[in-house]
Amino acid sequence: MAKKRQLLIVATANKKKFKEIKAILGDLPLQIKSLLDFKKKPKIIEEGKTFLENAEKKAEITSSFYNCLSLGEDSGLEVEALKGRPGVFSSRFAGKNATDRENIEKLLTELKGLPKYKRKAKFISQVVLACKGKILASFKGSLTGFITFQPQGRFGFGYDPVFFLPEYKKTTAQLKPSLKNKISHRYKALSKLKKFLKNYLELTS
Ligand code: IMP
Repeated sequence: MAKKRQLLIVATANKKKFKEIKAILGDLPLQIKSLLDFKKKPKIIEEGKTFLENAEKKAEITSSFYNCLSLGEDSGLEVEALKGRPGVFSSRFAGKNATDRENIEKLLTELKGLPKYKRKAKFISQVVLACKGKILASFKGSLTGFITFQPQGRFGFGYDPVFFLPEYKKTTAQLKPSLKNKISHRYKALSKLKKFLKNYLELTS
């Protein structure tokens, strides 16, 4: 009889982020779900000062709540001219329930008048794997680019329409999702996690 696949719950309710994570980890012998698949969800308050603190909290709480493997991912945008802001506040830069559009508008307003060479920015992704409340591993990935003067592109989410990659002469919202998922900060962090997970699954199954 075929062995039942272990459950990995990605501690996010962000549909687009989960789609990216699933596209990258999808070929692992795991059953991958997100918080969107459950009615009863743990309460996670993101108040960490770093991506690592937030990702650890997401992974620890979710894996102990559902008693399984869980992946916490915390990501965001660091803009050099803003001394690393919005950072951990990326999703709520323009306020608590801000939309992607409002966050982008605030960012473009804060960078108004700055020439291209002063618009350097970095996407960061911090991933943490936990099992039943215990942290197993954590990995980080980053992607460097520039903030454009106006939004371009329809793919992705968050700041993708204003995040320009000079090597591709496109914003990450103009890249096909399949390409973004091969070069992104999230891909880089998750590739390292994937190697770890493969070994872990071999040892524990
Ligand atoms: P989190 O869900 O608390 O980790 O918030 C991450 C926020 O960072 C998102 O809401 C976006 O605003 C931004 N962000 C993270 N990764 C990306 C990306 O791949 N593209 C665009 N924006 C991103």
